[in-house]
Amino acid sequence: MKNIAILGATGSVGTQALAVVQANPGLYKVLVLTAQSNATLLISQALTFLPDVVVIGDENQYQEVKAALSGTAIRVLAGEEALCEAASLDQVELVLTAIVGAVGLRPTIAAIEAGKDIALANKETLVVAGDLITRLAKKHNVNIIPVDSEHSAIFQCLVGEGNESVEKVYLTASGGPFRGKDREFLANVTKAQALKHPNWVMGAKITIDSASLMNKGLEVIEAKWLFDLEADQIDVIVHPQSIIHSIAQFKDGSMKAQMGVPDMRLPIHYALAYPHRISTDFTRFNFLDYPELSFYKADNDTFRNLDLAYSALRKGGNMPCIINAANEVVVNAFLQDQIGFLQMSDVIEQCMQEIGFIEQPGLNNYLETDQHTRIFANQLVTK
Ligand code: NAD
Ligand code: MG
Repeated sequence: MKNIAILGATGSVGTQALAVVQANPGLYKVLVLTAQSNATLLISQALTFLPDVVVIGDENQYQEVKAALSGTAIRVLAGEEALCEAASLDQVELVLTAIVGAVGLRPTIAAIEAGKDIALANKETLVVAGDLITRLAKKHNVNIIPVDSEHSAIFQCLVGEGNESVEKVYLTASGGPFRGKDREFLANVTKAQALKHPNWVMGAKITIDSASLMNKGLEVIEAKWLFDLEADQIDVIVHPQSIIHSIAQFKDGSMKAQMGVPDMRLPIHYALAYPHRISTDFTRFNFLDYPELSFYKADNDTFRNLDLAYSALRKGGNMPCIINAANEVVVNAFLQDQIGFLQMSDVIEQCMQEIGFIEQPGLNNYLETDQHTRIFANQLVTK
């Protein structure tokens, strides 16, 4: 029985994680559930899983959650500090970070400092402060097990291999809903079009990131920190079927790929169960359903975000933090119909040029950079 905390329990990853827990009675005990605003779903999850602690981010909804759970032994907390407290609760062994965005940074740090292993879905945290997070994890002897399907794939390929054996990795990308489209087409796409991902059903932010290829850019940076790679060792290859989840290539030229039907429950379950593999009834891959798997070069001229992310990675310091904060603002603005699809990259690039560069940032530098970038990006968006 593994004691787990799920931060962001009401989201796409969070609800799928709870489905995995429910399908495996006796394996996991959920001690913590958190959500930002969906009190109704959080309450029903709490009544099903009976955790020790529930955290609602939005303090206005505290009374509602508190009242609904008053007949139980569940402690109800609210706000950002409570998130950190819940993530570092004594009996918790593993924290699944399924929050979206850089707000995941502080609770993730709290969990690592309390010695909890991390099942990491919240990629933004590694993008913003990968240097700090990986150093802290080493110091506190904490495992970071990726949930992102590409990184889970590489992690699985590297089991039993030394890091020094890796020549490079290939992250596969579906290409999203706008694969093959040109800039003229992209200038007029709507959020409804962008929210239709061909292979995955996910939260709104990551779905827009997938359409703009920023998701792959963030994943390149995520891969750097998870697997201790240089930018030149990370390549992106478009693979529309999303069957090969990613590939590790070794010094001798040999390659290992991890495959399966696109189903996030698989990498979620792998991260929860690690280092074990547990039987599942998930749909098995059938070769005859896919007579062809295809691969293409990413269109970096049309989708500029990928190059912007590589350049942030090469520059280092607080540049990935800048790109992430700017991206969170523009995705939100696009979802509010404030800016067009192509403007997202323009605003991000301007933030990268204008926000002060810091070569060796500490936590406070990251938090300040995040804040400054959001203010500046919001000004650009509302202009
Ligand atoms: P989502 O929007 O569906 O869910 C986000 C969760 O975070 C919700 O429970 C929400 O209440 C909580 N949350 C939102 N804002 C918060 C705040 N300010 N403070 C505290 N909690 C907050 O998102 P998702 O698609 O589940 O993605 C979660 C993370 O996992 C993201 O970092 C995403 O990039 C990553 N990821 C998701 C998928 C996927 O299939 N959905 C795949 C790979 C990686
Ligand atoms: Mg991914």
